[in-house]
Amino acid sequence: RAPPRKLTGKKQEIDAFIDQFDTFLFDCDGVLWRGSVLLPKVVETLEMLRSRGKKLVFVTNNSTKSRETYSKTFAKFGIPVTVDEIFGSAYSTAVAISRVHKIPEGKRVFLIAEAGIEEEFDAEGIPHFGGSQPLGFPDEDVAEHCGPDPTVWAVVTGLDRKLSYAKLAMAFGYLQDPNVHFFATNVDSTFPMPGRLLPGAGSCAAPLTLMTGRTPVAFGKPSLAMMDSIESKYKLDKERACMVGDRLNTDIQFGIQGGLKGTLAVLTGVSTEKEILEAGETGDGPDVYLDCLGDLLG
Ligand code: PLP
Ligand code: CA
Repeated sequence: RAPPRKLTGKKQEIDAFIDQFDTFLFDCDGVLWRGSVLLPKVVETLEMLRSRGKKLVFVTNNSTKSRETYSKTFAKFGIPVTVDEIFGSAYSTAVAISRVHKIPEGKRVFLIAEAGIEEEFDAEGIPHFGGSQPLGFPDEDVAEHCGPDPTVWAVVTGLDRKLSYAKLAMAFGYLQDPNVHFFATNVDSTFPMPGRLLPGAGSCAAPLTLMTGRTPVAFGKPSLAMMDSIESKYKLDKERACMVGDRLNTDIQFGIQGGLKGTLAVLTGVSTEKEILEAGETGDGPDVYLDCLGDLLG
């Protein structure tokens, strides 16, 4: 693959780039906004792409929100979007469990996660417990409640900002049975807030890997499971699709491994220009990059 090339912003060059694609898959945090700050000219850029007939899909690893709730974040920033255009790691996980892995009747999932996953699981009819619900006993009594359980089919981890020793002990109890699946929405080590990084969903799965020696199967970026789901839901033509993201090991890998025609990185999120150029040396860089998404306006 050619080294990553910075688009200069000349109209002809930008037009030629955009014309290669019918669909743009957008990462959200770090591309459209960063934390609570909308990035420059995002609304205008998305509007320009729509006016040129491009299909837009918003693909986020943020597991804390359902698509419905996430659409309110878009509304808060004044970005027009429909719920159907949003594809989050919580939804991706729900779809994989109900339609691909097909959870058997009478089985349930133990969650280390927040409400977004519960909403997506409810919509897909997946029975669950744990998550944001009370455990039903005092945390200090967990030793009496963390044995194996034949009704538990999987443990699913996402970001859980109320992660506790009791929840980890319960998950550990279930995962000692090798027939119980270990799934994760995503395994991002961190996520960006303005001025700092916070521990990501991967940090909630990692203690279980330490305890059990097992690594979770994840359904967010860069998993092929997520790409397959997106391909079938949106009838995606990969030869005419571009992934836009700020993070090399999630977004850009998602585009590359997922077989998309194009990848575009922006410098408003996690990965730096230096990292992008270094990744280019091993074929892991984006095709092109920009300082920010708004530069697509030329
Ligand atoms: N995980 C969590 C918990 C987040 O809050 C975020 C961003 O807000 C992310 C992951 C990364 O999301 P994205 O894939 O949109 O960059
Ligand atoms: Ca991002």
